[in-house]
Amino acid sequence: MEYNCSRCHQRFPAPATEGEQELHGLHCPRCKAEAGLEPVKATPLAMKLFAAFLGTAVVAIAVGGILSLVSG
Ligand SMILES: [Zn+2]
Repeated sequence: MEYNCSRCHQRFPAPATEGEQELHGLHCPRCKAEAGLEPVKATPLAMKLFAAFLGTAVVAIAVGGILSLVSG
């Protein structure tokens, strides 16, 4: 689990256990902010599929453009 600081955009790993988090207090290692820390979740599968689809579409458009240039 990672956290992203919305203040300085530093990404840092969270303490392994919740007890450790409570003991030390969860804060940004760079700017020491305790507020505005957003848990970073793993990229959802739907997002990956969408990215793959987008990449394929871009390649298809590029190839189509090149083919039309060559044939035209
Ligand atoms: Zn920060």
